[in-house]
Parts: sequence; C-alpha cells; structure tokens
Amino acid sequence: MKITVDRDRCVGAGMCAMTAGEVFEQHEEDGRVVLRMTEPPAQLTDDVAEAEQLCPSRAITVDPAAG
Ligand code: SF4
Repeated sequence: MKITVDRDRCVGAGMCAMTAGEVFEQHEEDGRVVLRMTEPPAQLTDDVAEAEQLCPSRAITVDPAAG
C-alpha cells in the first residue's frame, strides 16, 4: 500500500488524523495534512482506507497494490 496526499485539495478537516493518527497529522501552522509515513504496515490498512473515504476533499489517494 502506498499513500499520496494532495495538500492543495486538503481543507484541513482533520478526519484523517482522527481516524489514522499514526499515518496522518495536521501541519501545526496551516492545518493541512502531513503524511507521517507513505507505506504503512498492514495492520493500518483498514484505518487508512477509512480515512480515505472520510476525507471531504478527496485529498487522500491509496494505491493498495504499491509498496
Ligand atoms: S481529512 Fe482530507 S481534508 Fe481533512 S485534513 Fe485529512 S486530507 Fe485534509
């Protein structure tokens, strides 16, 4: 699994950080998403998928076949 984020699309809603805080955090100044890791371990797959779905601006892209 490989994750990419589009910070230009991110609106800083924070759903990702609340759902999968090991992977996503919010920049302390602009509030937009920052990736803590791009290829998370398998046990985080479900949380990452949920974060992708919950993101209101579709800023998170997950490629399950990569990584
Ligand atoms: S849920 Fe989406 S819009 Fe909200 S902080 Fe995360 S990436 Fe940005």
